[in-house]
Amino acid sequence: MAQPANRRVTGVLVVLAGAAVPLWFAAARLPAYQPADTLPWWLLAAVSAAAELFVLHIQVRQEAQAISLSEVPQILGLFLVTPAQFGVGRVVGVLAICALWRRQAPIKVAVNVVLVAVESAVAVLVFHALLAVVGDDTPARWAAAFAASAAVGAVSATCITLVVALVERALDPRDLVREPAMGAATSVAVAVVGLMAVVLLEQSRWNAILALLGLAGLAIGYRAYAVLNERHLSLERLYRFSQVVSAQPEVDEVLQTILAQATEVLRALHAEVLFLPGDGQAEAVRVSVAANNRLARANCAVSGPWLAATADGEPVLITRDTRVLADREFLTAEALRDSIIVPLRGEAGLIGALMVADRVGEVRTFDAEDVRLLETVANHASTALRNGQLIDRLRYEAAHDALTGLPNRGALRRELSELLARPQPPTLAVMIMDLDGFKQVNDTLGHHCGDSLLQQVAARLLAAVPSGAYVARLGGDEFAIVVPSVAHADDVLTIGHGLLLIVAEPLPLDGLTLAVNASIGVALAPDHAGDVATLLRRADIAMYQAKSLGRGVVVFDAAASQPDSPAQLALVGELRRAIADSALQLYVQPKADANTGKVVSVEALVRWLHPEHGQIMPDEFIPIAERNGLIKGLTEVVLRKAIVAATGWARAGERLSIAVNLSPRGLLDSRLPAEVAELLTELGASPSLLTLELTESSMMIDPAGAAAMMEELHDMGVRLSIDDFGTGYSSLSSLRKLPLDEIKIDRSFVMGIEESSDDEKIVRSIVDLGTNLGLDVVAEGVENSRIWQMLRRMGCTQIQGYYLTRPIPVAEFPAWLVDYRKRDATLVTVG
Ligand code: C2E
Ligand code: CA
Ligand code: CA
Repeated sequence: MAQPANRRVTGVLVVLAGAAVPLWFAAARLPAYQPADTLPWWLLAAVSAAAELFVLHIQVRQEAQAISLSEVPQILGLFLVTPAQFGVGRVVGVLAICALWRRQAPIKVAVNVVLVAVESAVAVLVFHALLAVVGDDTPARWAAAFAASAAVGAVSATCITLVVALVERALDPRDLVREPAMGAATSVAVAVVGLMAVVLLEQSRWNAILALLGLAGLAIGYRAYAVLNERHLSLERLYRFSQVVSAQPEVDEVLQTILAQATEVLRALHAEVLFLPGDGQAEAVRVSVAANNRLARANCAVSGPWLAATADGEPVLITRDTRVLADREFLTAEALRDSIIVPLRGEAGLIGALMVADRVGEVRTFDAEDVRLLETVANHASTALRNGQLIDRLRYEAAHDALTGLPNRGALRRELSELLARPQPPTLAVMIMDLDGFKQVNDTLGHHCGDSLLQQVAARLLAAVPSGAYVARLGGDEFAIVVPSVAHADDVLTIGHGLLLIVAEPLPLDGLTLAVNASIGVALAPDHAGDVATLLRRADIAMYQAKSLGRGVVVFDAAASQPDSPAQLALVGELRRAIADSALQLYVQPKADANTGKVVSVEALVRWLHPEHGQIMPDEFIPIAERNGLIKGLTEVVLRKAIVAATGWARAGERLSIAVNLSPRGLLDSRLPAEVAELLTELGASPSLLTLELTESSMMIDPAGAAAMMEELHDMGVRLSIDDFGTGYSSLSSLRKLPLDEIKIDRSFVMGIEESSDDEKIVRSIVDLGTNLGLDVVAEGVENSRIWQMLRRMGCTQIQGYYLTRPIPVAEFPAWLVDYRKRDATLVTVG
């Protein structure tokens, strides 16, 4: 390998030396310029040697630029010595450093010396030729010196590019433009320093010596600083990285840290970790940071550069201009510009790979130095993740429910889509089972009993399902059972009833014995649906029917699931028009501070004034709107009217936030935050004027998506409230991580606190937990002052209910408020 390269370099050497001779010959024939002050040639040699020794590394925004100072002796030589002395001084200086100081190989010494000879010849030629044309007053001499430096910079960069290309046997033609241009530009910049030295020398030698000494001191100091600084920077980052990684026990946090640090250290936009599949698993899992800053995990096959990195254990560097076809295809497929993938090792061997991609900035792509840096990062990451159990747990947790150990909803979906994607998909049944009265168990016996109940039900289901069936927990008290290859719907009914009987057998809970009933909905593939989403939805519809009919097991029936009667269908059309015409009416109901009675905000409640049927209440038409795809339009109408009202009041000096109810489906539409933002901008409203009331169930459908959207809304400044709290299954602690401002205790509990000690306990515990979490706790359904006072003593922050007023048309609200303030004092003190 070395021999042919050397031969090629020798070739270049001969060509360069061949060029130097006629160049010098031409230079000698130019009219000689009379140097102002002659410098001994050996002093020029010494300055040349010094310049050769001190290459400056300048740190410009994370990028190190190497800057040679060779222009300084060059300019000195042009002005202060004859051309012959100039050539000799430069060559001797460089020769001394390369051969004696650096002890370079003879061929390298030869290349450097010949290069300097060519450079000096070019400098003399350009300088003297220009002086002959423009004369030799001061500005002309300076211009000639700059031109000579630029020419030398360009020539030298071209030569070096060609030599490197010859050795590496690859040449990017663009480099032949880029490198000389850069070379010329930096040469001119450094030449300024040389010119300054000349000017000083022309004044007084002592001045110049002092200035040169100062300059050298600065250069040495800067160089030492730059080297140290660079080392510190990478050490510091790596140290911080390993420190953060080893200090955090939670898997996700470790992963998040690894990814964040990998992007930071490598200056990349994107990072991913791939974990190789464990025994008995087909696919690897890739973990990355999604747009919402949460971890995203995706199953994937190991191929391309991932395979190269994990099979051979060798790092893979894919630069922006790679010519390797497979790498290009990988970049295109992943929509990346460049990337490095390095293996990730555990104690026993390779466990995966770490990738960074898309280096920041236009100019630089990743290089070998970056590969080494990423390998160091990967080593630290491996240490943090080395614990084999941790990785196993990671793989397991992604697919399983923590409480029962059953596969989770995601795993169920994957299982189903695999089954349905088979060339000959089996006829299969999906059953969704929901426990009856689970909430009461949770509320009356406590969460640990609820948990134990779910675990026992899970165990019973696993033991009772036919062989080959798949049991998953969907969340809350919902389970799913997939029965493959069912011959007839009746078989499923038999299986379903059998499961219900087994689940309903009395089970021990905290010293008590309890019987739990459940309802099952069934959907069949391919009869009812051929895709996972529809299949699950239809099983869900059947389950709700089973629950409402009290019938145990119900198989999906397309006809029965269309509950809208002809009269209701007529309403759908009218409702659609009412929404389109914004003909719905907005009513509002105030929320008041529980201690002072001061009105702090209002809730917007919609009414529909039907031309024939008169006023229709939301409980009647909201479900119709939801079933018929009208809810989005309805929400928008209400939002618009509500924001208009609140901004109107605010302009009149009455700053009250307005709360709008969001239907459960509202949180399934990822465009919601953007649409709310647009509306607020359009109406010139402050986001803090708006509160959105969400229900627990709306967050259960797609918890991750809902959480992400809530973060987005909250970041905008919109307040978020949980409506009807207590009727769902979510515990307050599960809400802790959500960006909430308020919880509203469902009126069914509030209205009972006078009579029922259970209700009183529930309300009290919600108030305690809510206020501990720093949330506003609103009690709705306050119908008299006794209830208000009870709530006030419990520490409830706000109240809402008929006692203040029934919902009133939005236009009448300001007058009501004026009137209310007059009797405010009496209201609070009563009771
Ligand atoms: P919600 O969000 O729980 O609204 C409070 C309901 O409780 C209102 O019924 C209100 O009139 C009623 N209420 C207030 N104070 C008392 C009281 O002291 N005692 C009693 N018994 N009831 C009281 P409304 O206006 O009929 O609304 C019913 C439900 O319809 C609302 O329940 C909400 O879920 C839904 N809804 C109302 N407007 C909208 C809307 O614009 N969009 C959506 N998606 N849903 C809405
Ligand atoms: Ca509400
Ligand atoms: Ca409510």
